[in-house]
Amino acid sequence: MRGFITKALHMTKQKRDIHGALRMPIYENAAYEFDSSAEFSDVSLGKIAKHVYSRSSNPTVEDFELHVKSLTNALGVLALSSGMAAIANTVLTLVKAGENVITTKHLFGHTLTFFQKTLPNMGINVKFVNVLSEEEVINAFDENTRVLFLETISNPQLEISDLKKLSDISHSRNVPFVADTTMTPFYIFDARKFGVDIEVLSSTKFISGGGTSVGGLVIDHGIFDWGKSELLKDYYKKAGHFAFLYKARKEIFQGLGAVLSPHNAYLQTLGLETMALRIDRACQNALELALWLQNKKEMTGINYPFLENSPFCKLAKKQFKYGGSILTFEVESQEAAYKFMDNLKIIRRATNLHDNKTLIVSPYHVIYPFNSHEEKMELNIKPNMMRLSVGIENIEDIKEDISQALV
Ligand SMILES: *Cc1c(COP(=O)(O)O)cnc(C)c1O
Repeated sequence: MRGFITKALHMTKQKRDIHGALRMPIYENAAYEFDSSAEFSDVSLGKIAKHVYSRSSNPTVEDFELHVKSLTNALGVLALSSGMAAIANTVLTLVKAGENVITTKHLFGHTLTFFQKTLPNMGINVKFVNVLSEEEVINAFDENTRVLFLETISNPQLEISDLKKLSDISHSRNVPFVADTTMTPFYIFDARKFGVDIEVLSSTKFISGGGTSVGGLVIDHGIFDWGKSELLKDYYKKAGHFAFLYKARKEIFQGLGAVLSPHNAYLQTLGLETMALRIDRACQNALELALWLQNKKEMTGINYPFLENSPFCKLAKKQFKYGGSILTFEVESQEAAYKFMDNLKIIRRATNLHDNKTLIVSPYHVIYPFNSHEEKMELNIKPNMMRLSVGIENIEDIKEDISQALV
């Protein structure tokens, strides 16, 4: 089995349901009973693998994790309640007070707040650099650096860095490279090939099957030697290659309790089956729309990674199968942007990404409402800029909607 879609439908080594149900049922329960106290205690000690309590593991959630594992050939996968939970759990597994993270300010709004406010309040230092400058990244490393973190395509700047180069820099200092791949999930980006140790993503987006539910994933690609990580040395003695997953699952995840509900795991497993079809369609639509928008005189600054005039076009084509389904553009003023968005009849005013429906948002007002104007200008987020998440509609209808809204 080699094709992505075949693999998404026919997972290798799938656990068979006791009734032979062709789709893993939703196990909506908190606890699991045991035949004997001896077995119960063996399971608790980790001598036998069985479900005990649904905050720790659940058959429907496990089925989702195994699907992702088989599609990515990862060492291991942890499913969580949201993309933000995936990020928080990963960072807290790798860093403690007094140590630091290197990242950029070009991040999804809530991730930026987490790095700017929440981590410093816990005594974790965050160094913001321009990740497009190798020199800045190299100079930011010190003996207390524990993670290099960035987004494969930053949201909403659509900035793209040379991931293999950054990974090599990070690995030469024995620091794991963590990437948020929400904009380029594993059907369009091979994280292992570009040296990403830990992939975190919001499964709310492409995976959920059309904005059905919120969820997140942490994927360990098994590249990093955890014996070299300061913080995971002890876990390495216990769990070897699985040190990161062991600490993440048994300690951090248990303590923070950001568990994916079995119902949402069911929806997201269903979404995985059609993810490739939806991504093909949405990304082709996005490219066609980006090219078409370039000829609209009212629109400026059409930003899409696969456009020839994007400074990131070459890198994007080298690293990703598609340029994604997100594009941004500007109109004359904030008033014109609001008027345009209010005139739309098919495209919806909503903040999600990768829904089946095309969605539009003004990031300046909706995603970064609490950052100052100066900071937003520094982040290249302007009041007259709009972000479009292109869906799977017949693209002629979307073009027509945009044309009628511009008048
Ligand atoms: C949406 C998003 C997140 C957060 O995911 P949730 O599932 O909403 O918690 C993180 N990173 C990026 C790039 C996103 O687009």
